[in-house]
Amino acid sequence: MVQEMLGDTEVLLNTDYFEFIKGHAGIAKKTIYTGNIDAFFDFCYGPLAYRSVRFETERIDDCDNYQGNAVVNYTSHEQPYTRIIEHKHFNFGKQPFTIISREYSAEWKPGMEPYYPVNDAANAELYAKYKALADQRDDVIFGGRLGAYKYYDMDKVIAEALNFAAQEL
Ligand SMILES: Cc1cc2nc3c(=O)[nH]c(=O)nc-3n(C[C@H](O)[C@H](O)[C@H](O)COP(=O)(O)OP(=O)(O)OC[C@H]3O[C@@H](n4cnc5c(N)ncnc54)[C@H](O)[C@@H]3O)c2cc1C
Repeated sequence: MVQEMLGDTEVLLNTDYFEFIKGHAGIAKKTIYTGNIDAFFDFCYGPLAYRSVRFETERIDDCDNYQGNAVVNYTSHEQPYTRIIEHKHFNFGKQPFTIISREYSAEWKPGMEPYYPVNDAANAELYAKYKALADQRDDVIFGGRLGAYKYYDMDKVIAEALNFAAQEL
C-alpha cells in the first residue's frame, strides 16, 4: 500500500529535516511537516511539554502465556506501570517462552521520544502561540500528532491526512 502511495517519489530515511533543509532551502513549494511544531520554530517561545514512556522488557522462560492477551492496561496506583505488552499475542506465537514489556509513564526530557502532548492550560497557551506562527506559513502544512500537538489514534490521524489531501489537491 505504501509503495503504491509513494510511486517513484524519492524517499530519504534517517534524515533530519532541519539538517536537510539547510542545504536545500526552496526545494519544495509546499512542505508537509510532521515533526514537533515547537522545534520548527526553533523553540522561540520555549519547549512544549510531552509525556514519554519507558519500556522494561523481560523474557520469561518458564511461561508460554503470561496474560492471555497482547495488551493489558493497569489503571491502579498500586502498579508502577501503565500497561504490559505480551508480544507473542500480536502474531499468535507458539513459543514455549514469552516476552513482555512493562510500560512506565515518564516525564519527557530533550532527546527522549515525545509520545503524548500535555493538555494543560499552560501548554495549550504555548501551542496557540506556535499555531499563530504556523498559520502565517502558507508553504507548510503542520500535520500529525507532533505538528498539531494533539493525541491522535491512528484512524484519526489518517482521517486528518485525508482531509488535508482533499483540501490541498
Ligand atoms: C506509546 C504510544 C502508543 C500508541 N498506541 C496506539 C494504539 O494502540 N492505537 C492507535 O490507533 N494509535 C496508537 N498510538 C497513536 C499512533 O502512534 C499515532 O496516531 C500515529 O503514529 C500518528 O502518526 P503521525 O504521522 O502523526 O506521527 P508519527 O507516527 O510520530 O510520525 C511522525 C514522523 O515524523 C518524523 N519526524 C519528526 N521530526 C522529524 C525531523 N526533524 N526530521 C525528520 N523526520 C522527523 C518522525 O520520525 C516520524 O516518523 C500510540 C501512540 C503512542 C505514542
